[in-house]
Amino acid sequence: METYEQLLNQAHEKIKPISHNGERFEIPKIEGHIEGTKIVLTNLPQIASYLRKPADHMLKFLLKELATPGTFKNSIVVLQRKISSQKINEKIEEYVKEFVTCKQCGKPDTEIIKDKGFTFMHCLACGAKHSVRAKI
Ligand SMILES: [Zn+2]
Repeated sequence: METYEQLLNQAHEKIKPISHNGERFEIPKIEGHIEGTKIVLTNLPQIASYLRKPADHMLKFLLKELATPGTFKNSIVVLQRKISSQKINEKIEEYVKEFVTCKQCGKPDTEIIKDKGFTFMHCLACGAKHSVRAKI
């Protein structure tokens, strides 16, 4: 369940830049627990919202990279295989490198846009547009 503070943060993050002068951009860490033979991740939508990326886009990337089936329901991700949080965090870092950080200015304030069948990363800080892979 989301706390009032989390909801407030999410609302803020839609308008304010992720990075500020002198403030280091930190990639949020995944949170979750083991349930039997599965892994339950509880904060993927929060991370995706912080990074301004659709949660299902990020999840698709993670499932592919981790080579595990998974489900996404009611903000909760269930992975069908035990994977260390360290491994998941590494993949989130790769996702950030590929789909979040601007290749021009290095800022994380980007959005993914689709145009004529192509997928682009658009930087809100410097205006740069880079094509990214459309298919994960
Ligand atoms: Zn930029």
